[in-house]
Amino acid sequence: MKKIFATIVLALAAVVFVGCQSQSQQSTTTSGSDSEKAINVITSTDVYSDIVSEITQGTSANVTPIISGSSADPHHFEPTANDAKKITNADLIVENGLGYDSWFEKLVKSTDTKAQKISIATDIGQLKDGDNEHIWYDVSLMKKFVETTTQKLIEIDSANQATYEKNAQAYLKKFDTLTAKIDDVKSHLSDANKKVNVSEPVADYLLQQIGFEINNKHFEQAIAEETDPSAQDIAQMQKDFESKTVSFFVYNTQSHSPLADQMADKAKAANLPILEVTETKPNDTSYIDWMTDVVDHISKLMN
Ligand SMILES: [Zn+2]
Repeated sequence: MKKIFATIVLALAAVVFVGCQSQSQQSTTTSGSDSEKAINVITSTDVYSDIVSEITQGTSANVTPIISGSSADPHHFEPTANDAKKITNADLIVENGLGYDSWFEKLVKSTDTKAQKISIATDIGQLKDGDNEHIWYDVSLMKKFVETTTQKLIEIDSANQATYEKNAQAYLKKFDTLTAKIDDVKSHLSDANKKVNVSEPVADYLLQQIGFEINNKHFEQAIAEETDPSAQDIAQMQKDFESKTVSFFVYNTQSHSPLADQMADKAKAANLPILEVTETKPNDTSYIDWMTDVVDHISKLMN
């Protein structure tokens, strides 16, 4: 009886052993090159996962944002335990910085992740607390982000160096095309048409890169600090709309601010063009296409 039992155990062990072996054989044959291990990149928002995915395409890297889609507000986001798990298992993590995604930083600190980290605003942009945190509207900073990320990916996963370099080269050409478009709009600006009023600072980096001057800084600052702009600031903006001192009004359609809506109505009533912008990347579009779209809209408003 004992002997039979022992035989059964041995037979079971053999089955388990064979099972494991055939499984591990299977995974090595399906994963391609021997040294290849899929790396995990976690970003705070889907703007950054979109950019990183352009560099990793053709490899088995997993690039995952914590926030995706335009329904969640990155300024006020509550991550889950599952999000912490993603960070623990990451090889590279990417955050905006400047307090924009402070929940992400807290999440990282709550884990013992060994991931390399890129904080775009501070590590690449050399920006300081109090600077405008909507840095993805800064096309030249995003271009530098592509270059830095490519280097980091190569450090982490040198087996795919050639693919990362080839992808980055092609992607940077798209940035050059976008920059040429920006320069073209810039060449049509003069002292007479370079002023704009804005509902908040979300698109300022792009506007300033084109050469626009934010005319209602005082109003904008109050909004950014979540305080009430003065009645004088509001009245002045309306005057600017009516006198066409400004070329257009930049309106964040995602802000859900009654005052911003009210100002957009006033611009409309004064027949002043409105440039509608959003905080997060519209669904089903790439970063480059999104920014190109905004620049095209600006170009149309200027004609
Ligand atoms: Zn914002």
